[in-house]
This record gives sequence, structure tokens and C-alpha cells, in this order.
Amino acid sequence: MKNLPLHWKILIGMFLGLLSGILASMAGLNQFVIDWIKPFGTIFINLLKLIAIPLIIASLIKGVSDLKDISKLSRMGGRTVIIYLFTTMFAVSLGLILVNIIQPGKSINEQTRQDLLEGYATEASGKIALAEAQKDSGPLQALVDLVPDNIFGAMSSNGNMLQVIFFVILFGIGLILIDPKKAKPITDFIDGLNEVVLKMIDMIMLAAPYGVFALLAALIVESPSWDLFKGLMWYSLTVLAGLAILILLVYPTLAKLIGGFSYRRFLEGISPAQLVAFSTSSSAATLPVTMERVHEHMGVDEEVSSFVLPIGATVNMDGTSLYQGVAAIFIAQTFGLDLSLGAQLGIVFTATLASIGSAAVPSAGMIMLVIVLGAAGIPEAGLALIFAVDRPLDMVRTIANVTSDATVSIIVAKSLGLLGSPHVKDLDDFYHKEDGKTTHEG
Ligand code: ASP
Repeated sequence: MKNLPLHWKILIGMFLGLLSGILASMAGLNQFVIDWIKPFGTIFINLLKLIAIPLIIASLIKGVSDLKDISKLSRMGGRTVIIYLFTTMFAVSLGLILVNIIQPGKSINEQTRQDLLEGYATEASGKIALAEAQKDSGPLQALVDLVPDNIFGAMSSNGNMLQVIFFVILFGIGLILIDPKKAKPITDFIDGLNEVVLKMIDMIMLAAPYGVFALLAALIVESPSWDLFKGLMWYSLTVLAGLAILILLVYPTLAKLIGGFSYRRFLEGISPAQLVAFSTSSSAATLPVTMERVHEHMGVDEEVSSFVLPIGATVNMDGTSLYQGVAAIFIAQTFGLDLSLGAQLGIVFTATLASIGSAAVPSAGMIMLVIVLGAAGIPEAGLALIFAVDRPLDMVRTIANVTSDATVSIIVAKSLGLLGSPHVKDLDDFYHKEDGKTTHEG
């Protein structure tokens, strides 16, 4: 067990978690799981979130100051934004093609539609109210929100990651521009800090199998009735098919064609992050793991991974945008609305923006879906239709979100000549590291 690769340990934890959840539900021990097991899952998520801001600060300052040249930074920034936009628009388009072919909305009968609309009306109006607050702000609010007025204020909430990134990039540029002798103590300190934070992630990851066990056991005992799942089977399958195409086909192919990764090497490298994404439903909580995997196990230089991944975790959400596209058309189909090609192209645009605006936390994509529905003239109350299955779909779309971030970091690294060979670390070293025994050589 000790030498088992991390992703197997996590998979075993997930499997045992699911099994325990099912057995506990059958034995009527739901409250026991909620009181005595779920808290360990919450502690695991908290540990990951706890490390996210220190990690962004340490690795991004190190990354930017290592670039030693501001034009390199702007080249990297430009490429990152363009590729992120491209992958997101591709994902929504894929979702729209699938939902138009499969037409899951046509398979919903009137009874199920009424049950869902009534059963989830309260939850749906809660999300709609949250989205209204976002809609009320002006067109440039997102830009204003990027610039914090107090860095300690920004650092005090994980929801302000973009603000922290903004400050840190500015700080890193300052560090490049000052006299290297004066910059040295700060870069030395940041180097050391970075090592410590990476070591802390290694330690936290030792708890991952237990954390995911607790999260999945709690998820099962808290999930709603299976009857409603059945009614939404075709909708769920459409979303899952799209996500599977992204995760199993599109990203590994890009990594192979551009980065030279074999299928196995790519999945082996990123799978622990994928499993944590699945269990936590949060790209932000998964960020420390994604960064560690991409840099240490996939050969992406830290200058790239520390820049591309934190930004990606907050703005690049291919899985979310695909889901928003499918969900919008599904709701329209259920209400008997036929959307024109123009309206569907509008959804590519709004879902891209809505996914960028979605926070990297569980079910955030659903709040922003309200905006996509509103813009396309689809009844927002239709949100109630998809509520019952949102959590499992959220878990899988979060995998797509983090896998896309990792893939884009490979592409950007390759284009800048900053991708080490994916085979640098041989498998012994790879497995040895899983146990957190070796030191980080940076
Ligand atoms: N849970 C997703 C993430 O964190 C966002 C969403 O689609 O709700 O990436």
C-alpha cells in the first residue's frame, strides 16, 4: 500500500467512501456520517484552500521575477488569454452540437417537468437572486474588481484570487525592475517560502485518500432521491458525453501533439488533481494539487505553471461553459422553445463570459447559468429542472476545468521553450515522490 501511486490511493479512498455512503444510507446511519465522517472531508478542503493564497503568492512572485524580462511576461500573458478563450469557446460549441443532436429536453415528460419545477423552485430562486446581484453591476465592474484597494483585504478571502494575482504580478515586475542586489534578499526569501509551501502540499496530499473518502461518503448520504435522477438521465448523459470528449480525447490529444506526452503519461501526471477536483467540486481548492502535478510531474517550468494555472483556475472553465450551453438548450427544449442559430451563437458568447465569471467553487456555474438563460430569453425558473443532478455534473465539469488549465500550461510552456521533457523524472522517482519523501529541487 505504501508504494502505491497516489492516484490509486485516492481512487481506493473514493471507492470506499462511495461504498460506505451506500451502506450507511441503507442502515439509516446518514446522521452518523454527517456528524462523524463529513467533518474530515471539510478539513481536507480547508487544508487545500488554506494553502492556495500562500502558494499563489510564493510561486507567482518567483515565476514572474525568474522571467527577468517583462516582454516575456506579456508574451506569456497574451498567449494564455487567447488559448483560454479558444478552449472555452470550443467547449461550449461542442456542448451545443451534442445537445442539438441528442435533444434530451424532448425526453422529459410533463409529470417529471412539473415535479422538478415544483420540487426545486425554492433552491432555483435562491440561485437566481444571487445572479441578479451580479447582473446589476455595470459593464466594467469585472475590471474594477480586478484591482484591490487593500492587499490584506484581498488576501483575506479565497474569492479574491484574481486581485491577489494582480498585486503579485505587479510586485514581481517591480522586483525585476529594481537593482538586482536590492532584490536578492526578497527573491531568496520567496524561493525559500516556495519550497516550504510545496512541502506543505506534499504533506496535505498524504491526507487526500482519507479526505476524499469522507467527502464521497457524505455526498452519498446527502444526495436527493434517485427517481429524479432517472428523469434527467438524457440531460446528464449529454453533459457527461461532452465532458468525456474533452477530458479523455481533446486534452490528451493536444498534450500529445504539442507537448509530446503519451496518453498514459499525461493522465498519470494529472490524475491526482482530477480526482481531487472530482471530490471537492472546486478548481480553487484543487489549485495547489494542479500546480504541484504540472510543475513537478509534467515538466512545465514554474515560470509558466505559476502564472497560467492560478489564472486558469479562476477564469478558464471549459467544463462549466460546456455544461452551461447544454443546460440552456435543454431547458429551452423542455419548455418547447426552439432557439434559432443566431440565439445559439449568442449562447456561445454568453456562456464563455459566464464561465469566466463563475467562481471556482461548487455549483458556481449554475449561478452564472441564470445570466446565460436571461440573455437568451429562456425562463430562468427552468433552473429548477436541472437542480437534482447538478452536484454530480459539477464534480465532472470541475475535472474538465482543471485538466484544461494543465493542458494550456503545457501548450504555453512549449511555445516559450519552457517545457522540460515529460520523461525527465523516471517512474521510480515519480512513485518515490508520491510518498512525500524527497525534497523539491525546484
Ligand atoms: N465547480 C466548478 C469549478 O470549481 C465551477 C462550476 O462549474 O460550478 O471549477
